[in-house]
Amino acid sequence: MIPVEQAQAMVLDMARPMGVEVVPLAQANGRVLAVEVAARRDQPPFDASAMDGYAVAGDPAVGATLSVIGESRAGAAFHGDLTGAIRISTGAPVPAQATRVIMQENVRRDGDTITILEMSEGRHIRPQGQDFRAGQTFAPRRLRPADLGLLAAMDVAEVAVFRRPDIVLISTGDELAAPGSPMRDDQIPASNAFTLKAMIEDAGAIARVLPIATDDADSLRAVFALAEGADVVVTIGGASVGDHDLVGPIARESGMDLSFHKIAMRPGKPLMAGRMGDGVMLGLPGNPVSSFVCAQIFLLPLIRAMTGQTALPVPRTARLADAMPANGPRTHFMRGRVDMDGLTPFSEQDSSLMLRLTEANALLIRPPNDPARAKGDEVAFLPI
Ligand code: AMP
Ligand code: MG
Repeated sequence: MIPVEQAQAMVLDMARPMGVEVVPLAQANGRVLAVEVAARRDQPPFDASAMDGYAVAGDPAVGATLSVIGESRAGAAFHGDLTGAIRISTGAPVPAQATRVIMQENVRRDGDTITILEMSEGRHIRPQGQDFRAGQTFAPRRLRPADLGLLAAMDVAEVAVFRRPDIVLISTGDELAAPGSPMRDDQIPASNAFTLKAMIEDAGAIARVLPIATDDADSLRAVFALAEGADVVVTIGGASVGDHDLVGPIARESGMDLSFHKIAMRPGKPLMAGRMGDGVMLGLPGNPVSSFVCAQIFLLPLIRAMTGQTALPVPRTARLADAMPANGPRTHFMRGRVDMDGLTPFSEQDSSLMLRLTEANALLIRPPNDPARAKGDEVAFLPI
């Protein structure tokens, strides 16, 4: 059994960076930018009004009456000589001669004149380039909605992003049947692939769910054949060393070059990993919580490494809301809830409990042989 950190390093070592493709900006949400991009213009591109009001030249005093000689609207600049005042709307170009914009609430308008009633402090002018300058660069990262708006404002219409890893999911077990399909009394719905597919998609990769393999060599061989060419092959179940746990042997027969099998982790001890063709194979244990935790700790970091992102999340810390007994020799990822009162690890930690998993928002990380902990001790956790 190797330690979790060593297993993570071995998995990440197998990660090969994905190629790059160019996509329209509108299709780039959640994609990872592969190359830095530069703004093609200043924003705002001119000194712009921050208010609806009146632009004035010079230094008029409160009480002054000025004539309104024109207007600058967003999309229709004023081009004359600024004497008196012009009506101006938010975002509209401010004429070069203007010294300030007076908010419309601070003037009284009578026909073609305004009288200044009050003068607030600011000039209410957004200087050209206040937001960003042409040439300013945007560093590669996973694109979020606000990033897309920024890039569009930079006049960038398409972006170079990492290709999405193609990940196949293989559920294994005689007991499994698709939810909604006819099921014998000794069967259960194959549920893990639903969680994993969603996790993979949320991480920006493509998940393909292959047909369920039964616990026999031919069935497993047939699905491994379907998985050929995938960037990552993920199997679920059959990873232990029972009589019906054939994933290891058949994966190796199908070309998997084993990197490790079994790690000092709870849940998730039977995890295996290796190279498979040009890709990576991860053999996850079948218990729902085990496969979820292994995906958090190994699969998501692998996806991030393949797409040029920081692979390993930095754990957060919280105060324990409850005391805990000493940990055993394996890293324990305990489900729990973190809130204003601190982190409460659940008393039930069985790796088959799916309802409990949905109630958790934290994986408390307990190092091997961590001593007993008191309420109020600081502990590390990963948000889930
Ligand atoms: P295994 O790792 O194959 O020994 O499976 C461990 C436990 O997880 C058994 O109770 C299986 O029935 C269950 N299990 C395996 N695969 C899945 C799956 N895809 N969905 C839900 N439960 C599963
Ligand atoms: Mg099984």
